Amino acid sequence: MKKYAFGVDIGGTTIKIGFFETTGKMLDKWEIVTRKENGGSLILGDIKASIEEKLAKEGISKDDVQGVGMGVPGPVTNGGVVNKCANLGWGVFNVEEEATALFGLPVKAGNDANVASLGEMWMGGGKGYENVVMVTLGTGVGAGVIIGGKIIHGTNGAGGEVGHMKVDEDETEVCGCGKTGCLEQYTSATGVVRLTKRGLAKGGVETCLTKLDEITCKDVFDAAREGDAFACTIVEKFGKILGGALAKVACVVDPQVFVIGGGVSKAGQILIDVVEKNFKAEAFHACENTKIALATLGNDAGMYGCAKMAIDG
Ligand code: ZN
Repeated sequence: MKKYAFGVDIGGTTIKIGFFETTGKMLDKWEIVTRKENGGSLILGDIKASIEEKLAKEGISKDDVQGVGMGVPGPVTNGGVVNKCANLGWGVFNVEEEATALFGLPVKAGNDANVASLGEMWMGGGKGYENVVMVTLGTGVGAGVIIGGKIIHGTNGAGGEVGHMKVDEDETEVCGCGKTGCLEQYTSATGVVRLTKRGLAKGGVETCLTKLDEITCKDVFDAAREGDAFACTIVEKFGKILGGALAKVACVVDPQVFVIGGGVSKAGQILIDVVEKNFKAEAFHACENTKIALATLGNDAGMYGCAKMAIDG
């Protein structure tokens, strides 16, 4: 085992780069701008330059680096083929092969949500477990399934896409994916606000939320924590939808733990409580005691997971 690894989390705006010891200790992290021009063709070169600059500064040879893991905001197959990444301007190509040749280091790539799940399993909310489902509740809903310590990429790189599980047959508004009734439409930050506005639009509601010019997901959870009855009904609905969806996932995957991350998870214990209650009510009896925990690595989860992927090879 070599001593160092890089974890590179590629986002639409910035690329987060973490420099790790292969023991899991993060030594340093920094960000570079994602240059999306020319179909994203500058991105890999920018990462190579940044990695080489770091190695030169530390006086470390590439021979001491186990590899580079990269998280990509789109579907990635187990063999490293990216299947279109609108946020980066990338089409369909084998990013592992291209980056390995360019960097002169072994490269492994994965979908960003899957990779963040691996990071939380390694050093975060799922530490100590090897069967983990992590759900990231942000602007959208991403997720990753880890079984036996390995990411389940799926045939089309869509393994763990629980955000697009259909949870409501009657929904008329369209999800970002083009279909209707997806989990993401109710349990992302935007989803929670949408549920709230829909509830308010019915009228006759007394709630502190009407005083706000613009309602955020945080406002809804804060109001519920303060005992606002209307906000509590929204949080309960959120818990029923997410807890119910996780109960279905448990029937297929039966993980040791569900780790909940992303901006919405900053609501904390109130979120865990409502999801756990609804999960227990709907889960198959054999898995109704599955642990539900908060993510702990925040925005660093992707870098940790990428490094882990590079180390595991
Ligand atoms: Zn969808």
